[in-house]
Amino acid sequence: MPLTNALILDLQRLLGAENVLTLKEDLIPYSFDGTAALKQLPEVVVFPRSTEEVSLVLRIANASKAPVVTRGAGTGLSGGSLPTPGCMVLCLAKMDKIVELDRANLTLLAEAGVTTLEISDAATAADLFYPPDPGSMKISTIGGNVAENSGGLRGLKYGVTRNYVMGLEVVLADGEVLWTGNKCVKDVAGYSTKDLFIGSEGTLGIITKVLLKLIPRPQARKTMLASFARMDQAAQAVSDIIADKIIPCTLEFLDRTTIRCVEDFSHVGLPLDCEALLLMETDGHPAAVAEEAARMEQLALKNGAINVRVAEDEAQAVRLAAARRNAFSALARVAPTTILEDVTVPRSELAAMIRLVEAVAAKHKLRIGTFGHMGDGNLHPTFLTDERNKDEMHRVEAAFAEIFEAAIRMGGTITGEHGVGVSKKAFLPKFAGQAQMRAMRELRRALDPNGILNPGKMFD
Ligand SMILES: Cc1cc2nc3c(=O)[nH]c(=O)nc-3n(C[C@H](O)[C@H](O)[C@H](O)COP(=O)(O)OP(=O)(O)OC[C@H]3O[C@@H](n4cnc5c(N)ncnc54)[C@H](O)[C@@H]3O)c2cc1C
Repeated sequence: MPLTNALILDLQRLLGAENVLTLKEDLIPYSFDGTAALKQLPEVVVFPRSTEEVSLVLRIANASKAPVVTRGAGTGLSGGSLPTPGCMVLCLAKMDKIVELDRANLTLLAEAGVTTLEISDAATAADLFYPPDPGSMKISTIGGNVAENSGGLRGLKYGVTRNYVMGLEVVLADGEVLWTGNKCVKDVAGYSTKDLFIGSEGTLGIITKVLLKLIPRPQARKTMLASFARMDQAAQAVSDIIADKIIPCTLEFLDRTTIRCVEDFSHVGLPLDCEALLLMETDGHPAAVAEEAARMEQLALKNGAINVRVAEDEAQAVRLAAARRNAFSALARVAPTTILEDVTVPRSELAAMIRLVEAVAAKHKLRIGTFGHMGDGNLHPTFLTDERNKDEMHRVEAAFAEIFEAAIRMGGTITGEHGVGVSKKAFLPKFAGQAQMRAMRELRRALDPNGILNPGKMFD
């Protein structure tokens, strides 16, 4: 149901007029997220400052069945925080406090609007470590990370956001506040409700606080960048490293198109005569790091690496890692529209998937730069295109469909970390199957009978 003037007046009374945006020019920045070619103006944007305010806003919205789209920083890449027509955007940016860092239990409690970087910095200041490091971490919020179950460059060794969530405060669609989880290392009392909300993309409840696990900081780290004439060689080096029982914290790759774009963008001196670059990082006890780094270098060379650059110090390590961290920004400069995709396959299928993406690009006459988390089997084929060119956009869609269908055939998934949102919802039934789709719909109906939370996302 569209928002009425009376409802907007209620919101202004409740939150203060300065926390309720209604003018078109104020709404425009909230009409899109990080996903290319998707735009929709919301009716109103609200900024609650506390859990109580979120709860009151939801009570009002639920009573009039008004759609609510929750938003963190809007960096999502599947259209999750894209407004649905006639909706209210509820933005958590003003709930931005770290509530507690508990050194005895190694936990951190934060409001949902705190950025991932602030979480990481707070942990570092206490000589602790919060590993999940999505490429967007300078601006993405911890609430958005939990809602998408975001990954990052260190996922191979340290896992993803889910592995660090110990508890959540969630406001349900009718305004009721729920707390799930605690500081206990073990807890099997009832269903693991917190796991339902992780990755729920704003469709089951609004996360207002997150209790995170912190771990000791690794004492040492070694960063290396290896170049390969052929992508297969890089993929085989990754397989050999893992078969050698080494789990590096990072094994990331860039293909030829991405290498050229990154070099044009950041001039880090990348070799341009290769088909693949592999960023390898190991961390932990200094003796183990030295041994693992030497072994990884040997395995890269055994697989035909043209060159392996080993960082001498932290400044060089940051420079080498920048090649991978800048990949998306570098690709985004070369075409009017950049569509960053996200498929994951079992690691054994990685080389085949990379070859398939290249073949699909050639077949549909498209430019695709691919980079990603090679150690996780998670690829980001990035389409360099122009949304104004309708014919090309049809070919992009056909190419997507072929890539996702191949991923499912290979035992992979349609999204490893960016979520379903609106971009992937057409592919979800094929991937999840009828029984799982029914269970997910019924779960959603039970928690949000009026369907006000992020309608039209994940499924219709
Ligand atoms: C340059 C770039 C690099 C990226 N790199 C990575 C990467 O390495 N790994 C990765 O996984 N992703 C990556 N992303 C995608 C994106 O940053 C993540 O999905 C991130 O977690 C989104 O956080 P956000 O605060 O911007 O959320 P938003 O985009 O605002 O929202 C994302 C989804 O979560 C929901 N949501 C947000 N906050 C809440 C809340 N408090 N309660 C309930 N639901 C909520 C929204 O409704 C929406 O469905 C990248 C994006 C960009 C632009």
